Amino acid sequence: MSGVLVVMEQRGGQWNRMSFEALAAGQQLAAKLGVECSAAVVAEGVSALASELSGKKLVKVYAVEHALLKTYTPDGYVAALEQVIKQAAPAYVLMPHTYQVRDFAPALATRFGSVLISDVIAVHDGPVFVRQLLQGKLNADYRHTGAGPCFVSVQAGTFRGDTVETGSAAVETFAPTLELPQIRTKPGELFRESAQTVDLSAAPVIVSVGRGIGEQENIAIVDELAKALGAELAASRPICDNGWLPMERQVGSSGQTVSPKLYLAVGISGAIQHLVGMKGSKTVIAINKDENAPIFEVADYGVVGDLFEVVPALTKAVQAA
Ligand code: FAD
Repeated sequence: MSGVLVVMEQRGGQWNRMSFEALAAGQQLAAKLGVECSAAVVAEGVSALASELSGKKLVKVYAVEHALLKTYTPDGYVAALEQVIKQAAPAYVLMPHTYQVRDFAPALATRFGSVLISDVIAVHDGPVFVRQLLQGKLNADYRHTGAGPCFVSVQAGTFRGDTVETGSAAVETFAPTLELPQIRTKPGELFRESAQTVDLSAAPVIVSVGRGIGEQENIAIVDELAKALGAELAASRPICDNGWLPMERQVGSSGQTVSPKLYLAVGISGAIQHLVGMKGSKTVIAINKDENAPIFEVADYGVVGDLFEVVPALTKAVQAA
């Protein structure tokens, strides 16, 4: 058993951006271990998508295809991935820490009597996998010593998808043996998404609003800026706790982890529980009237000023551009 296998995630024929972050982590781990890296993508009719990975530095890409994999079910994915992992026999299986992976990965690891090291933020020589504990106050090192492949999920924004190495990879169609009785969960029961559901982890631009906004009705001015920028609207916890925005828009240790190209924090102080959710952002802009607000310590650009003056002016400038 050697090598690294990265399980890539797609939905409706579109890659989840976090898959490439996991792929970068997988390639780096393989290079550290001096072993080969492969990738797998699961769905019905996924060969064309898998072929997009043929230009990456991978030994093989498995297009894991079956009619029963048309819609995601944890049972279907676990059964299919179990078979491909048995064939590929990797020592490490890396996945992006998405909702879908959180759903099926523990069961997959259990099939092999192995462990899942979840939400990893770094991989050091050894290999040692680093996870955050206690709301990001402590980093803990994990080393796999047991038998069987070690399953690892990678936190959004901790590896850069644009560092995936290029090369050439053979694409192999893998047809798992699946039968309907194996699929006990019905699609839709677990993953029925409300109209408001938003996956902030995939958003390239996020405008996030904090308690500095004062009142729920004032959120409209930040929403207008988000719309002008084509950004997703997000929030700090007090905004969601107040019910001013839905919980799924909360960024932070008890909300979503995001890694957009641009994160604009409006009236957010920068508490540690918020920072752990957005520190993977490529560029951070903060607007806060308190020049000593901790958010400025992680910001690339800062505006010290009243958001009620700065935000409308910024929106106007973006709209005029
Ligand atoms: P505040 O800290 O009140 O900051 C408001 C900011 O707005 C201030 O810096 C102020 O200077 C500025 N401001 C005010 N008026 C204006 C104005 N007119 N113009 C410009 N700036 C202005 N928090 C999260 O965000 N996400 C989480 O997931 C999360 N999880 C948590 C989990 C636990 C277990 C705990 C204990 C806490 C958690 N928190 C979380 C809460 C966290 O500790 C902070 O309380 C919260 O992040 C603060 O939100 P805020 O920055 O919007 O508000």
